[in-house]
Amino acid sequence: MNYRHAFHAGNHADVLKHVVLLGLVEALKRKDTPFFVLDTHAGRGQYLLQGEQSDKTGEARGGIFRLFVLHGLPAMVQDYLKRVQADNPVGALVSYPGSPLLVAQAMRPQDRLVACELQPDEARALDQLFKHDRRVGVMARDGYGAIKALLPPKEKRGLVLIDPPYEAQEAEFDLILAALAEGLSRWPTGIFAVWYPIKQRRTLLPFLRKAAKLPCKSAFIAEVLVRPDDSPLRLNGSGMLVINPPFRLDQDLTPALPVLARLMGEGGADSKLQWLKQEAG
Ligand code: SAM
Repeated sequence: MNYRHAFHAGNHADVLKHVVLLGLVEALKRKDTPFFVLDTHAGRGQYLLQGEQSDKTGEARGGIFRLFVLHGLPAMVQDYLKRVQADNPVGALVSYPGSPLLVAQAMRPQDRLVACELQPDEARALDQLFKHDRRVGVMARDGYGAIKALLPPKEKRGLVLIDPPYEAQEAEFDLILAALAEGLSRWPTGIFAVWYPIKQRRTLLPFLRKAAKLPCKSAFIAEVLVRPDDSPLRLNGSGMLVINPPFRLDQDLTPALPVLARLMGEGGADSKLQWLKQEAG
């Protein structure tokens, strides 16, 4: 099989990111007309969670493993679990689908995905994964640059997911804000979703303040903290900034977030959905 171990795949942050991502795709499917998705930092598309090194997948044990077999969860969480279960047909959780695979499996024949991945091995694996899927284009290139090159799409509606590795630490926020400004100037009605890590809250505030000033109609953040956000060394939680969110996504997420915090969290777990900018009326 063409996937490999990844120590972060399926952790609490992936769960939040992918629940919100699938909620966005489902909202886009409410209309029959085609939509476009750009995944700027796509990864390899599929990750192995068990096997000879399964003791090293500790992070997923605090994430997807806590949810995988549960029933009766809020609809958005249940939809996400159905997608992950579909990738694990024998019932045991062995493989975890990354963002491009989740999107490709949820979208329809008329929809289109472009997935960008800079790291050559990851891009090769991604290319292999989608070699028979004509709806999906894989580009081994910088995802931020793709915003300039590919927007606006001919479909005129859709989504950009920005999920960088934050190797540039806080400087990544400046790259993201510049990419969002560029993206919104080219495609003002596009939906833009940005995943961000939460270590210490105060380091996030300038980013969120600047995001609230972007020229968009509306924006909210959805966050899940698995422990208090006061340690700079650990991934205490994460958030998704959603710009131009589809109608009702906030209402659908509201019951899901506290359940995710409770199921994946320790003491001090918390969640919130907060509007940064809301359309009048
Ligand atoms: N979005 C994926 C998912 O949800 O399954 C996970 C992506 S992972 C957090 C970030 C990926 O971005 C890594 O695979 C890394 O190689 C890739 N990457 C780093 N810098 C990049 C860039 N400038 N453009 C595109 N990909 C990049």
